[in-house]
Amino acid sequence: MLKLLISCEHGGNEVPAAFAHVFPASAKAILESHRGVDIGALALAKTLAQQLRADAYDDNTLTRLLIDFNRSLHHANVFSEFSQTLSESEKQSLIQRHYLPYRDTIEQTITQWIVQGHDVLHLSVHSFTPKLKGEVRNADIGLLYDPKRALEVNITQQWLKQLRQHTALNVRCNYPYRGTADGFTTTLRKKFPTHYAGIELETNQALWQKNAALIQQTQHSIAQALAVTL
Ligand SMILES: [Zn+2]
Repeated sequence: MLKLLISCEHGGNEVPAAFAHVFPASAKAILESHRGVDIGALALAKTLAQQLRADAYDDNTLTRLLIDFNRSLHHANVFSEFSQTLSESEKQSLIQRHYLPYRDTIEQTITQWIVQGHDVLHLSVHSFTPKLKGEVRNADIGLLYDPKRALEVNITQQWLKQLRQHTALNVRCNYPYRGTADGFTTTLRKKFPTHYAGIELETNQALWQKNAALIQQTQHSIAQALAVTL
């Protein structure tokens, strides 16, 4: 049986009081922008989990500008230009109290399910800004996967087909990023060579800047298409 796990690495933009000094007053707008938080991603993750009765790991509400839960610890951008200035012990505190508990819990759940004989679909929910450095992103939805992993190819193709048949959403694969770039799913693929499919669902933030009814409709369409796929 295929078990579904939903995560959201950039869902919030909270800054614990102990780290407030990292952000000058001028950084407030940045914290609230796409750089501080994946706008709309947390609400989508929660809706998908609810409608598909999946396990959701969406309790990380820290901003990625403190520590990026979707980067490996060796990645140059795991700490942002703001948090790079933290002392070694402050960085360790973010790693030990926030980053590792989040990532380890998800990894343990996947291990447990695979040991029990399941295949696992891990959906990592994100969003992207409609326009980056002058480039308009030509997609509503991006499904990021590893073309070398059969289970990921299968699920992505089916989901893509459903979305294209039943919605007007412009869906593309491995856009605006490649599914094999450094990320949580990339790390987990190495840990689970089989029985694990890690797909990143990237959504255009323009979808989440409409009225509540349209937002709900879009969330529902994405969930429905995935339900049929599974
Ligand atoms: Zn993200």
